[in-house]
Amino acid sequence: MNDFAAMSELHVLRNFYESGATRPYEFRKQQLLLLKAAVLKYEQEIYVALHTDLKKSAEEAYATESGLVLAEINLALRQLRRWMKPRRILPDLVNLPSSGRIHADPLGVVLIIAPWNYPLQLCLIPLVGAIAAGNCAVLKPSELAPATSAIIQKIISEIYPPAYIKVVEGDGSVVIPEMMQQFRFDHVFYTGSIPVGKIIYQLAAKTLTPVTLELGGKSPAIVEKDADITVSTRRIVLGKFANAGQTCVAPDYVLVHEDIAEAFTRKLVQTIQDFFGKDAQKSADYGKIINARRFDQLASYLKDGELVYGGKTDRTSLYFSPTVLKNITAGSAIMTDEIFGPVLPILTFSTTEEAAAIVRQHPDPLAFYLFTSDKVKEKTWLDQTRFGGGCVNNTVWHFANHRFPFGGIGNSGIGAYHGKHSFNTFSHEKAVMKTPLWLDPAIKYPPFKGKLKWFKRFIR
Ligand code: NAD
Repeated sequence: MNDFAAMSELHVLRNFYESGATRPYEFRKQQLLLLKAAVLKYEQEIYVALHTDLKKSAEEAYATESGLVLAEINLALRQLRRWMKPRRILPDLVNLPSSGRIHADPLGVVLIIAPWNYPLQLCLIPLVGAIAAGNCAVLKPSELAPATSAIIQKIISEIYPPAYIKVVEGDGSVVIPEMMQQFRFDHVFYTGSIPVGKIIYQLAAKTLTPVTLELGGKSPAIVEKDADITVSTRRIVLGKFANAGQTCVAPDYVLVHEDIAEAFTRKLVQTIQDFFGKDAQKSADYGKIINARRFDQLASYLKDGELVYGGKTDRTSLYFSPTVLKNITAGSAIMTDEIFGPVLPILTFSTTEEAAAIVRQHPDPLAFYLFTSDKVKEKTWLDQTRFGGGCVNNTVWHFANHRFPFGGIGNSGIGAYHGKHSFNTFSHEKAVMKTPLWLDPAIKYPPFKGKLKWFKRFIR
C-alpha cells in the first residue's frame, strides 16, 4: 500500500486514541520498553544505516543518536509515574474549600517530522515524549536519509500496531501537506529548516493545530582574550566538525579576540589534524555531506573568504574536508546563510560591543557558545544575548542533558523538548477544581446588592 492510501487510514489512529488504550501508565511503560528493546536489538542495523546515510562511525552513532534515544527512554521509564501524577493546587480564598488538580492529559494524535542530519534521534526522541504522554503518533522521517528512514519504519512496524504509531515515508513536500490537509493532528512537532518550518506553521494555522518548531540559525562561538586556547579549540573543533558540520547546534562561525586570533587559528588547525589526521577522508571519525545539492552549496562558500585550512573536496564520495576561512567578505553568503557543513569562518573583534553587534546581525541563534574565564564578561554576554540554549567554555553538549529544555527562540524555533519538557510538550495541562457540597454560601449568588465590600475582601 502506498503512503497516499495510508493517509486515509489516519482516522484509525484517532479511533485508537479515543478508545483510551494509550492512557494507562502500564501501557505507556510497555511501549517504552518495546522501543528500548528494539533499539538494542537493531543496534548493528542502525549503525549500518547511519553509516550509509552520513558515514557515521558506530561510536558517533551511539553517542549522538541511539545512545541518546536509550537515555531518553530510560529517563522516561524512571520518571513516568511521577510525571503522570496529577499535581495538587492550593485553592484561592474565593473557592475555599475546593480542591484543585492539574492533570497531564495526552494531546491525541501527533505528527512528528524529522530532518536528515541526526535522522534517528530527531525522530525517536520526540516519539519517547509522545508515548510517555499517552499519545498516538505519525512519524515522518527524512527522505534524504533513506537508510535510517527504512530502519525506523522496520522497527516501528515490528513493535507497534499502525493504529497506534505509524511511519509515513516519502517526499515531505508532498506527503506532509496531504496529511495535514486531510487530517487534523492535535500537535505537530517539526525539526528542520526555517523555510519549511514556516510552511508547516501555515498548514497548522488553518486548523489551529499547535506546533513545536525546532529550527536552525547561525550559532556563534565567541572566544574572548582570556579564553583557554587549547581547551576552546578542542571543543569548537568537536562541535563544528562532528557529522561533517551538519549539526543544528554546531558553532556556525567563530568570533575571536584579535589579540589571540593568530594563536587560536594555529591551534585550531593543529587540533583538526590531531582529531582527523592530515587527510580527513581517511578518518573513520569524519562524516560525509548528505547529498550533491548540499555539497554544491557548501562549495560555493569557499570563495567568501581566505582559505586557512582544508578546502579539499570530492563530489563523487561527497567528501568535504574540515575547512577554515578568514578575512571573510562583508555581506557574503557564508555570513547570511546557516552554513550547516564543515566550513568555519573566523572573524575577529577588538571590543565586546563590536562582537555583540556582529552577533545581533543574526538574531535568535539556536545555540550560543562563549569561551572566557572572566565572570563579568560571562554575565554581560549571557544577559545581552537572546538564544535557544548554549554553553560557557563548551559547545553542543548541552543537547545531551535531557534535564535541560532544548529548543529555540524567535527565528530558531517555538517550544522545547527532552525529558520532562517533552512530556509537557505532548501533554495538555488540564485544570480541574472540585468543590464540596456541604458549603454553599448565599454571598456567591444574586442578588449581589450590598456584597461589593465582601467581594473586595475575598478577591484581591
Ligand atoms: P528540511 O526542512 O528540508 O526537512 C525536514 C523535514 O521536513 C523532512 O522530513 C522533510 O521531508 C520535510 N519537508 C521538506 N520539505 C517540505 C515541505 N515543502 N513541506 C512539508 N514538509 C517538508 O530540513 P533539513 O534540511 O532536513 O534539516 C536542516 C535544517 O534543520 C537546518 O536548518 C538545521 O539547523 C535544522 N535542524 C534543527 C534542529 C533542532 O533541533 N532545532 C535539529 C536538526 C536540524
